[in-house]
Amino acid sequence: MKLANRLAWGHRIAMPVYHIAAIALMFIYPLTPKTLVLFLITYLIQALGISVGYHRLFSHRAFHANRILTFLLALCGGLAGQGAIRRWVCHHRMHHRYTDKTGDPHSPLVSGFWYAHIGWRFDPESYVHEEEAKKIWAEWPAELCWLDRMIPTLFFLHPLVLGLVGGWEYVEWGCFVPTVLLWEITFTVNSISHRFGRRLFDTPDTSRNSTWLSLMMWGEGWHNNHHASPKNARYGIRWYQIDAGYYFIKIMQRLGLIDRVVDDSEADIRNALAMSLAVKPTTQTPPFRDPF
Ligand SMILES: [Zn+2]
Ligand SMILES: [Zn+2]
Repeated sequence: MKLANRLAWGHRIAMPVYHIAAIALMFIYPLTPKTLVLFLITYLIQALGISVGYHRLFSHRAFHANRILTFLLALCGGLAGQGAIRRWVCHHRMHHRYTDKTGDPHSPLVSGFWYAHIGWRFDPESYVHEEEAKKIWAEWPAELCWLDRMIPTLFFLHPLVLGLVGGWEYVEWGCFVPTVLLWEITFTVNSISHRFGRRLFDTPDTSRNSTWLSLMMWGEGWHNNHHASPKNARYGIRWYQIDAGYYFIKIMQRLGLIDRVVDDSEADIRNALAMSLAVKPTTQTPPFRDPF
């Protein structure tokens, strides 16, 4: 079987199994103070790895981190069950290159809401860019390429280790529930953040901002701000737009572990948008072909 088909089938099986297991096991192992702590720690680590690692660092190079922190952020993201970094980065760069046009792997405008939310993960066509994805390794140190190859193994090691330590209760609250919740939150950025919410910038796409999504995922909900300035490390542009991922980056910068942070203000972004010939300011959002 071709790699693209194997990956699509892996998602078709793993995602429903995880969703069903996460819900079913809640009735057998209800949340306790101990498992609440396990859930929160796991979720925060996984979401940090996706937002600050996979997204801001590896996809957009919004800052530079030292090799140890880079590896740790990759490991945190790798524990989130969202696949190899190279494929995530490849998909995400295509999303920015072709936003809401043919070629965007998950646009509600082009492919419909549910395909943009989760259907694209089950489609072999989403995994035909393996050679392009592997080119990303050329930018990385050897230990990161090794970790990237190990991420499918991590997907099985994560619940196995938890199971050996604390049984199915730990697997439920330290793996199934946080992984499924983060899948849904991440996919919601792809779907709902291109459908509902406010816009601070007149970007030529359907991106929107969402306070609750930002609170749930280290600032990722400021998606319109992000599309207005994709390389910016800062997603919460205004003072009231809470962006925990950006605060993490600034703390690490203070500690000397991160440098070369792209840190644009609202005025910088508006100037860049106005000067960009490619971006024509619009006051109207394109209509949706298939909202749901
Ligand atoms: Zn987007
Ligand atoms: Zn992005």
